[in-house]
This record gives sequence, C-alpha cells and structure tokens, in this order.
Amino acid sequence: MKLRDIKGIGPKTEELFHKVGVFTAEDLVRYYPLGYDEYTAPIQVGAVCVGQKCAVRAAAGDVVMRHFQKMTIVTTTLADGHSRIRATWFNAPFIASVVRKGTEYIFRGTVREKNGQLVMDHPEIITPEKYASLERSLVPVYGLTKGLTGKMIAKAVREVLDKEPSVCSEFMPESFLHLLGLMDETEALRKIHFPENAEVFEGARRRLVFDEFFLFIMAIRTLKDKSDEEHTAFSMKAVWDCEDVIAALPYKLTSAQMRAWREIESDLTKPRVMSRLLQGDVGSGKTIVAFLAMMMTALNGYQSAFMAPTEVLASQHYEKLMQLKEALQLSFPEPVLLTGSVKGAKRKEVLSRIESGEANAVIGTHALFQEGVEFKDLALVITDEQHRFGVRQREALSQKGRMPHTLVMSATPIPRTLGVIYYGDLDISVIDELPAKRLPIRNAVVDSSYREKAIRFIDKQIGEGRQAYVICPMIEPSEELDIANVAEEFRAFKKELPGRTAAALHGSMKPEEKNRVMEEFAGGGTDLLVSTTVVEVGVDVPNATVILIENAERFGLAQLHQLRGRVGRGEYQSYCIFMAGQDSEKIRERLQILKDSDDGFVIAEKDFLLRGPGDLLGIRQSGDARFALADPARDADILRTAGEAAASFMADDPGLLSPPNALLKERLNAYLNAEESNMTL
Ligand code: ADP
Ligand code: MG
Repeated sequence: MKLRDIKGIGPKTEELFHKVGVFTAEDLVRYYPLGYDEYTAPIQVGAVCVGQKCAVRAAAGDVVMRHFQKMTIVTTTLADGHSRIRATWFNAPFIASVVRKGTEYIFRGTVREKNGQLVMDHPEIITPEKYASLERSLVPVYGLTKGLTGKMIAKAVREVLDKEPSVCSEFMPESFLHLLGLMDETEALRKIHFPENAEVFEGARRRLVFDEFFLFIMAIRTLKDKSDEEHTAFSMKAVWDCEDVIAALPYKLTSAQMRAWREIESDLTKPRVMSRLLQGDVGSGKTIVAFLAMMMTALNGYQSAFMAPTEVLASQHYEKLMQLKEALQLSFPEPVLLTGSVKGAKRKEVLSRIESGEANAVIGTHALFQEGVEFKDLALVITDEQHRFGVRQREALSQKGRMPHTLVMSATPIPRTLGVIYYGDLDISVIDELPAKRLPIRNAVVDSSYREKAIRFIDKQIGEGRQAYVICPMIEPSEELDIANVAEEFRAFKKELPGRTAAALHGSMKPEEKNRVMEEFAGGGTDLLVSTTVVEVGVDVPNATVILIENAERFGLAQLHQLRGRVGRGEYQSYCIFMAGQDSEKIRERLQILKDSDDGFVIAEKDFLLRGPGDLLGIRQSGDARFALADPARDADILRTAGEAAASFMADDPGLLSPPNALLKERLNAYLNAEESNMTL
C-alpha cells in the first residue's frame, strides 16, 4: 500500500516520509519509535533536577517577549508558592499569547542551569485536566526530519492500523503463539507504537523481537540446507610460508590468535567446505588471522575475497595487507582493492586482474559481489564485522563460482550456547585474549564543564606525537537539539588548537573524500579527527591514544565500547573521555559501567539492567544491522525460544508445505527477497 493512499498524507508529506526511509504503509507500521516520552506525575517546582525532563504544576508570571539578533525569546517564571524557576521559549512568539499570567498549567520540559539559575527550556504547556488524562502514558518518540513531526507519524500509523490492518496480518499458526505466550502480530505492532504502560510495551516488543530472530534463523537454515556438508573443490595444503610470516611479524601472536589460526588452517586442509565464525572483542587482532588465511589460499593457487562493511575499513585492510607484504618482503599474495569508488580505467584493470586470477587477495565492500565481478578461482570468502551484513550477502559472494570456504568475523559478544542457534551450523573460534603489550585504557566520565581540560589534554598528547579522535553524534547543528556536531566542533577545535592539524569525517561525505581523510589520519598526517560514528567499526590507527566522545549519553553502551576500541590499539597508554551533554545521576551511572568494565559482554548485560521504559528502544544497542529491535545479548531468552521454534518447524515441516504454515512460508520468502534487495544498496 502506498503512503499516498493513507488519509492525511499528500505529496509533500509523502516526500518527508521518504526522507526517513518510509515508502509504504508496511514500512510505516515498522517505523518503530526510538523511545517513549513518559508523562510522569507533576512534581513541585523546588524538586526539579538539572538535566532531567519533568513536569511541574505552576502559575505563570509576567510573560515577556524579547528580540535578540534574529531570535524571538519568550520568558516567564513558574511559581508554586514555595519556589520558582524561569521558563524560556525560543522562536515561538505565539507562546506569549497562549500563556496567561497567574493561570496554573503543567509545564513539562528539561531543566538546565544557566548563570546559576534554573531554567526550563521550551516546556510543553498543558492544562491540568488534559494532563490528568495523559499521565503515565507512553508517547512514542520517532526519528524525525525537518517538517515531519511525531504527531504526523503517530496519526498516520493509527490510520493504517485502524483502516488497513491487513498490512501486517499474522503469519504464525495460532496454536504456536498460544504455546509460546506471544502477542498477536497486529496487536504487537499497535502496542509498540502506543503502549499503555511499560508492561504492554514489553509484551509487544517480545513478539516483534521473536519475529526478527525467528525469521533470521529460518532464513539461515533454509539457505544452509542447500550447502551443508558439501565437499570442497578447494582442498588446500598447509604452507610453511605462513609459519615464516608468523615468525617475522613485529609482534608475537597471542595464544588465542594461534589457536584460531590453527583451527582455520586445519579446516582449509579438510575435504569439506569451511564455515567458521571468528569471534573476538574489539582489538583482539582478528585481521591478521584473516590475512594468514588469505596468504595460505594464495599460496595454494586460489583466490580469496575479504569483505568489509564500509569503504573506509576496506581500504584500511588493503593498506595493511600491502604494508605487511612490503615490510616482510613477501612475494605473495597479490592484493587488490575493489570498492564503489574504484572507477573507470582503474576499475577495469582491477576487474580484469580478478578475472585472470592474477589478483589473488581481493579486498572490498559490497562492490565485490556486484555484477561484472568475475573470479577465476574463489576459494575463500571472509566477511569482516559480519553483523553488518544480511544473511544473503555472504551467500551471494559464496555463489560466485564453486562453493568457497567462508570465514565470518564478529566482535558481537555472544555466549557459546547461543552462538550455535544464532550462527546456524558455523564452527566457532574465539579470540578471548588481548595482545599482551596493551595497557588498559584509562577512562573518564565527565560533563561538558570538563571541555577546556579535555582540549588541553588532547593538545598535550598530540605534543607527544600521538593522535586523537573527537566523536560527535551529529553532522550538522540542529535547530531543536543542542548536541555536539562535527561541523561546529571541527571549527571549534581548529580555533582552539591552532598549531595542530584537524580533519572532519562523516557519513554524508563522498566515499573518495572519506577514504582520503581516513588514510591521511592513519598515516599520521592529521593530528585530530573530528568524526561521527563512521569510525565505529574496525578502524585501526594504533598511534591514536585519546578519544573524546561528546554527548556520550546519546550512544548505546555497546556502541561506546566499540568507539572506545579505536584507541588502546598500540603500545601507548590510551585514554577515553566520555563527555555527557548534561550532568545527571542516571547518565553518570550508565557511563560508569564502561569505566568499570572493558568486556563487551558484561557491558551489554549491565546496560540492559539499568534501562527504563523511556529508553527501552531508544538506543540501538547491538549495532546489528539485521535487526531493528532485537539484541542477541540482551534478548538471549527470546533468541533461545526462537531457535527452538525454528527447529521444531524444520523438523515437522521442513518445506513449510502444510496449509497452516502457508502464511509463514509466504512471510519467509518475503524476508529472503527483502534481504536480497537490501544487498544491492
Ligand atoms: P580487531 O580484532 O578489532 O579487528 P585488529 O585486527 O584491527 O583488531 O587488531 C588491532 C591492532 O592490534 C592492530 O594494530 C594489529 O596490528 C595489532 N595486533 C594484532 N595482533 C597483535 C598481537 N598479537 N600483538 C600485538 N599487536 C597485535
Ligand atoms: Mg576488525
């Protein structure tokens, strides 16, 4: 169903929905809230806390409207007989005619401190009667774009759910739902948008998370069944040269790396196709293990492909392999880089070298499995940061020629028992040890008053020859949110550290430009990189020793852990500064988890225990691109249930041919097709 067919959506609004990635009514009902705004009971004016959103019942004082530069500022005081605070509205002149002096309202907003005074910024103004009806309800908060409001989205969602419930009709047999105590899907979709309370929300989320896991597992099983226990056309021999490389490396492989390598090496010499997961926390040194496998493949006369989720990461891997080859003066392998920004004559040349087999270690992005890429003898496919890819992406590359061996790499922490469900029949190697010479990263949790100190600290580190990252949640300044953004911070840092070189990096830059900036930073040509989370996965610059993460409260802990993993990758003492945009007990408590632990798994678990309904969905935890809601670490029990359910379907009706399973079959096919089309993005 097209968006235009929904009542209230015209061509203009439709455009806005397209901007946030919603193209159909189906997309719309699955455009889940980022979180919920809870209308908590009003408190006394004297009880407000800085940094917290709250509601107070108070009478308005004199309403004053001023003009400052191009802004209109409306202010008043909020008083309740005991205490008073100020309230300010920017660029909302109509407020002056809405708020009446002496009248009592509920004012709801976030309080901050300004020049020693408490100010409530841009509060909502609600009559006490209206507020009573809202109290304790959860209002969805959506990802917005200019012109598209939360109200518009909520209204359109309601419209679809009321008038066209068929866009999300149930696909699981009823008996099954009953057995597992799961909510009906249509109901779950309604309640994920509009839960009456936290409990209802949990029930709805549980059902939708179940679906995500279940379809994912069913998809893997369906695809796997075709390739299981296949004989390989690429049986290899172990080679001495790999031992020589290991001995010549500038560091000693950890025993965990050695173990993983031996497992892979042994797999490759067996007569059956390898399907192995290499799991290891950030910085554990997975890349070198992958390179060894690529070398072994090359020395056996075959080709390997190494696929990374971003261009930045792909070109970094390519550079590293080239450096290794040069440093150790190896005659093998023959690497090439193939990404979307390799174009024209260069691309032609790369493609022909891949086709002739001359290039035997191909590193790249999704571009690797596009049409026109022909391998001569592809024997090994490695996927880095595997959770960023869909089920079928790996599959697609595997289908370029005869069934190659596959190695997938991931830093997602997952207990072994769950790995079996999650990764189907992959064998698992774990690197559970960090390189010995690493010094633990020193962490600081601070608020923005520490900024000046942080800048001096970064300056000092740069003075010692090191490099630094500054991470901001946003690219550009926003009208509504006062959140650190790359554009402004880049300018600010250039001004504050005039003698240092800085560069900006973010997702909407051209790939070529991103690569150039990243390469320059990696080569030590830039002292400071002001960036969004595009550096989150895999980027490896061992000389960088400080990472300052601004508005750290805007990120999930798992994501912060990944970001922190950008430093502490070399021999130098490294530092991570988590800077919260506001000072609040809750934020500090959450960030403290990171200070206390550097174990990705522990962090994921603790984070889960600390969160409340307001941020239940809010922050994407796992960074797992395959799921919108599900988080393998947090939702372990649902994952287990989904695994069991999938197993029972596969046992009773593997082809899903029985009539009660017809809808499920249809849904699974749709899921697989969607995966396929995502692949070409
Ligand atoms: P990840 O597992 O996060 O992908 P990388 O493979 O990027 O980690 O390795 C992180 C850094 O550690 C790299 O600079 C790499 O050269 C270095 N490294 C890898 N193994 C070792 C080791 N055994 N001893 C010292 N440094 C190592
Ligand atoms: Mg990596």
